[in-house]
Order: sequence, then structure tokens, then C-alpha cells
Amino acid sequence: MNKKYKIYFILIIILILFTTTSLITYINKVQNLTNKSTLNSLKELTKQDVAKIQNNINEHIRILETIVNEIENNQLERSEQVFEIYNRNSGNNQFSRIAIMYETGETSTNDGQVVDLSKEKEKFFDENNIKISQTMQSKIDNKKINIYSKKTKLGEEDVVILLVIETNKYEEIFIESIYSGNGNEYIITKDGQIIAKTNQNATDTNIFENIERFIDNNKKNKNELNDIKQNIQNNKNSENIVYNGIKKYFITYQKLNINDWYLVIIAKGSAVAEELNQVIIIMLIMSILIILVITIVSIYIVMSEKRKEKSLYNLAYTDQITKLGNYNYFIKEGQRNLEKESIKERYLIVLDIDKFKTFNKKYGHKMGDKLLKKIGEELTKILSENSIICRISNDIYGIIIWNIKNIDKKAENICKKLSKIKIEDMSCTIFVYLGIYEIINNKYNILECFDKAIVAHNKAKGNSERQYYIYNEKIELQLEKENEIENIMQEALENKEFVIYYQPKISTKNDKITEAEALVRWFRNGKLIPPNEFIPIFEKNRFIIKLDKYIFEEVCKDLNEWKQKNVNLKVPMISINISKEHFYEEEFIKEFVDIAKKYNIDPKEIELEITESATLNNQIDVIKVMNNIKKYGFRISLDDFGTGTSTLGMLQTMPIDTLKIDKIFVDKIDFNNTDKNIIEYIIYIAKKLNLKTVAEGVENINQVNYLKSIGCDMIQGYYYSKPVSKGTFLQSLKFGIMGTDLPN
Ligand code: C2E
Ligand code: CA
Ligand code: CA
Repeated sequence: MNKKYKIYFILIIILILFTTTSLITYINKVQNLTNKSTLNSLKELTKQDVAKIQNNINEHIRILETIVNEIENNQLERSEQVFEIYNRNSGNNQFSRIAIMYETGETSTNDGQVVDLSKEKEKFFDENNIKISQTMQSKIDNKKINIYSKKTKLGEEDVVILLVIETNKYEEIFIESIYSGNGNEYIITKDGQIIAKTNQNATDTNIFENIERFIDNNKKNKNELNDIKQNIQNNKNSENIVYNGIKKYFITYQKLNINDWYLVIIAKGSAVAEELNQVIIIMLIMSILIILVITIVSIYIVMSEKRKEKSLYNLAYTDQITKLGNYNYFIKEGQRNLEKESIKERYLIVLDIDKFKTFNKKYGHKMGDKLLKKIGEELTKILSENSIICRISNDIYGIIIWNIKNIDKKAENICKKLSKIKIEDMSCTIFVYLGIYEIINNKYNILECFDKAIVAHNKAKGNSERQYYIYNEKIELQLEKENEIENIMQEALENKEFVIYYQPKISTKNDKITEAEALVRWFRNGKLIPPNEFIPIFEKNRFIIKLDKYIFEEVCKDLNEWKQKNVNLKVPMISINISKEHFYEEEFIKEFVDIAKKYNIDPKEIELEITESATLNNQIDVIKVMNNIKKYGFRISLDDFGTGTSTLGMLQTMPIDTLKIDKIFVDKIDFNNTDKNIIEYIIYIAKKLNLKTVAEGVENINQVNYLKSIGCDMIQGYYYSKPVSKGTFLQSLKFGIMGTDLPN
């Protein structure tokens, strides 16, 4: 992921975290506030109820005290008297009845009942002060009751006066104050025994067990419950919150001033608080939704941006024809690769297709594109995964390969595999040129490495001997020199620095000059640059086409001039070297015809020398080219015969007039071995085919004699004459003596 998106994602995450935390803090704060206010109002309520119950009970105690005081002050002796006092004082009839318990446990009530309470009597006789009992069941009517009791004397007898009240009288006090109808109120003992409660139907007897039943069984709740128990044990008034799921229960408890009793209110989270909770939950959900929407939208935007970027990236970095990377990709990926120092045996290769333009012209652009694609596919097949393969321009591929043990083998393999390519059932012979640079240490950046490979590639390009070169400094120096030549060649042509030297061809019959070969010489600043230093360069950059035309025109001019000036002179046939580079231009010969016409020269007077190696071109139908040349009347000689791989048999198919036997055969004459027989055989066959024979590079009399003896027609060589200037040549023609110019 790139930096921009990283920042984007981090921002979104920060936004989400920030919103969530602030929301949670806010909710907590609101909840704490509502809890606090709920608890406060509940506390207030509890306090009020405590006061109410306290008042009520105090009133009950006061009534009992009044009754007992009257018994004691009046020294009453009979129970009827006691009941009478009760009737007067019992107020608003809260009590169910009054009873007198005798020492036997026999207890008689004001409504005429007698009950045996001998079992319970101890509890009542033990205490001298007024006492209120726990909740118990009435033996008379089975109702839940509480009893206020005080010891006194009735006559001589110890008795306990009992005021019986139904427990629900306390509960009636609660009823008005039940908290919003959502709470329960209890009177309990310290250990949680329920004395009175609002919910009559509930069967609970112990409030702690009850609480334990409805709260969640978790640590927090347990701690809260323990806290409640502890506080009650320590006579403290306090309040706690317990939970059942998301439901909240507020518990407040305050001590009553009677026995060890406590008043407890358990209230559900108030309706208001609930509403507030709902608002908060809605807010929370909305916020989450908003965050979610923001996140989804952001992700969508980022994704579509990425997609856009990817398609832009594709456009910017992919070659649409081969689907390989393009130049930009090559440079970018190549630099990345270069920076990986762990990669070893790494080479940068520049590969191009020879004469791709010609292929395009011949078969059309569609086929050209197919060829490019096919070569891309083949390269991908040949090279393992340890490679970067790109088409970096027209017909040029940039390649980086690594883990290559034998680069020569690899390069040869590439050339071989690409040499035969099949496109739509058409087999094509393809020639590629490779420039290779070995990336040893990473002192160069990709562009510099690329330049080095280009140097090696320039060396290979157009080279008929080798299809690939591996960069070294010598190549670079050589190329610099070539560059220099390229920079001045056009200017040299315009300045007429190229001049023609003629080398006579001597007839073996009469030792006379019958023909001559025109050879170019380059004089620059008084110095001679030999043809082998510039002809190969001109062939590579195709400047040879211009030069050959120029030489052809100069020869025509000379021929014309000689004819005009020397009416008696028999002008010999002149042969001119024609580079194979012309053959790629179909109508080239027409231009030569036009030039000849311009100088009134009949093409029959001119022979065109075509090297044997030029005929070995797979891309061109050379026979067709030769036939075309012949059609216009030029003669053709096959130059440098014996240096290529053509056989004598092949001569039969070529429309040639002359065979020029290369110097390497002539040199063999001096050695008296069987090789000598080869030249004899060549001449024999040439005669059979009606071809004239010329021996090149003849340097001594021995060679002359031998060539004469085997019937060679003409001799060209230093023995008779080096190539000489036009003036010298003309002199030789006129006077029959060979001259020399220095330098030649
Ligand atoms: P080539 O066509 O085989 O020309 C013959 C070469 O042999 C000439 O070299 C010539 O000077 C040399 N030579 C002739 N007799 C002897 C001999 O007895 N001993 C030795 N050692 N050498 C001899 P040059 O003039 O240096 O030309 C070299 C090549 O350059 C030519 O080989 C030809 O391929 C090319 N060339 C020269 N002029 C032209 C031109 O105008 N157009 C084209 N396309 N190529 C040319
Ligand atoms: Ca020649
Ligand atoms: Ca030759």
C-alpha cells in the first residue's frame, strides 16, 4: 500500500477510535449522573419511609406503654380491666387484638380466645422492655403478625401484655410509596430475614437470597451484594447498584430504630433513566452506523482510487501489444532489482529484431504486432522466473536476468530459439541482436547499465558474424570511434572527401587492362582512412547506400569524361561494389539506371559486384534482386567467392556473369599442396557455367603463371597494379604501363 493510503487508513482508524472513546466516556458520564440522581431520590424516599414506619411503630409502642402504665398505676387485677383500657386507647384500630400471657403460657385475648403459647413464652418473659417480635403466624387466624410485648403484674401474677398487629399494616405504609411502581420495599432483619414486604405474593423469606436469584452471577454483582451484607452488619446506611443483563437495580437500605431492622428499597432503573438509556443506545447505534458509513465510503473511495490508479499504472507501465512492461516499467523495476544486492550473476540485455521495418512493410503492421507479441511470449518461455522482460520501444526489448551461470550459452539459446518463429502457420526467420552488460557491482544506476548494454548492442547490430556482444571497455572505445565517423560522414560526402581509385583487371590472354574495379578511398585532412575502417560502419548505419550511389555516379561521370576526351581509347568495363543493404529497397536498381542514363552510360558497360555473403540472406530473395539487375542490362559478378558457404552447385541458380575468386584461394597457390586443386576445380566449373573468372589479390609471378595455366580469365592484384587514382589509371590505359600512386 502506498503512503497516501496508509495515512488515509490511519486517519479513519483514529476517527473511529476517537468517536468511540468519546462516546463511551460521554455515555458513562450520563449514566453515572442518572445513577447518582436516581440513588439520591431513592435515598430520600427511603428516609421518608423510615420516618413513617418509625412514627407508626412509635405510636404502637406509646399505646402499649399507656396500657401498661395504667395497669401498674391502678394496680389492676383482672383481664377485663386491661381489655377495657385497650378499647379506650387502641386508636385507629391498627391492632388486631390485645392478649395477656400468663406464666403458664396460657394466653387470653380480648376477643375471647385462649391460646397456649407455653412454647413461645420464654421469649416474652425474658425481656423487661417493650419488644417487637419477628413476623410469625397467628395461632388464631393464621395471619402473618408481629407482636409488641411488655412484662407487667396483673394482681399478684407476672404477665406479659401482647399487642398483636398484622404484618400487612406495615406493608400498607409502603404501598403509597412503592417506587414508581417499579420497586419493592422490605423490612428485614440484619441477616436478611424479611419482616414485611410490598409484594405480598412473593414467597421469599430472605432478601439476600432473593437478590442473589435475580442478579447476574458475576464478580461485580457478588461484590455489590457482599458490600450490602457488610454494611448492614455494620449498621451502615448505604446504596448499591446490581445488574441483570442490561437491567439495573438500585438498592437502598437504612436502619430502622426497632430491633435490628432495616428498611430496604429495591428499584428497577427508572423509566426516565431507561429512556435516557434508550437515547444513549440509539445515539450509540447511530454513531456506529455513521462511522460504518464513513468507513465503507472511505474504503470504497480508496478502492476505486486504487483501481483507477491501477488502470493508470497499467497504462503507464504496460506495453499494450505484448502485455509486457514498457520502458518506464523497465527503468522502475530494473532500478528496484538493481538495489537488491543479494542477486548475483545478473545481466542487462538489450535485444532488437533485425530489419523489423522491412518485415512490417512486407507483411503489414498487424503481422508486425503479432511478431512482437510472439517474441515477448518466447522470451518469457526461454527465460526463467528470474527475469524482467519488457518491450521498451518499437522492436527493442529490455531484459534483466539473474542467476545465470553461462551467459554465452544463454545468449546463443535466445538467438537460436527466436530464429524460427511461427505466426499463423507462417514460419519466419528472425535475426535478433543482443547487447549484454554484466551488472557486477551496483556502482551504476539502471540507466547507466542500460547505456552500457546499448553500447554492446550497437556493436552487434548489423554485424553479420555475431548476434550478441557482451560489453567491455574496448567495445566502447571502438564505438566512440564509430560515432566520430558517423558524425562526419555526411559532411565528408558533401566535401568530396570520398574519391575513387581504380584497380585494373588484366586479361591472361594478352596481359592488357580489360576491366577495372572501382574502390572507394577516404582522404580526410590529408590522411587516408582505409575502407575496412568505415565500410562496416556505413553498412551498419546504412550510409553505404548513399556512398555507393555517389561512387556509382562518379564512375559514370568518369566513364563519360573518358569517352568524350579520348575518342580513340577503348574504355574498359568498370565494376562497382554494391552493398547488400540496397537489396532491402526494392526499386534501388532503377535509381542506378537513372544515374547511368544521366551520363549517357549503357548499363552493359558496368558490372555490379555483389559479395557471396550477401546472397546468404534469408530475408531477401537475392536471386530475384539479381534477375532485376540483369533485366536492366548490368552485369553481375560474385565477389569474394569462397569466403561464404555457398557451393559451386548454387552458382547454377544465380544469374551472374563473373566469378571473383577470393584472395584466400590465390594465396594457397604458393603452397604446393592439394588445396591448389580446389581453385582449378572452381575455374573448371565456372567455365562449364559460362562464367568469366577473376582471381583477386594476385601478388607474384608464380600465382600469375599458375592462374594462366589453369585458364583463369583475368587477374587483379598488386602484382600488376594496386588500386590507383583516376589520373594514374587513365595513364595506364593510354600507355599500357602500370603506374602506382602512394598511398593507395
Ligand atoms: P573487395 O571488393 O574484395 O576489394 C578488393 C580489396 O582487395 C581492395 O581493398 C583492394 O585494395 C585489395 N587488393 C587488391 N589486390 C590486392 C593484393 O594483391 N593484395 C592485397 N593484400 N590486397 C589486394 P580495399 O580497397 O581496401 O577495399 C576493401 C573492401 O571494401 C572491398 O573488398 C569492398 O568490399 C569494400 N569496398 C571498397 N570500396 C567500396 C565501395 O565503393 N562500395 C562498397 N560497397 N564497398 C567497397
Ligand atoms: Ca569487390
Ligand atoms: Ca573481393
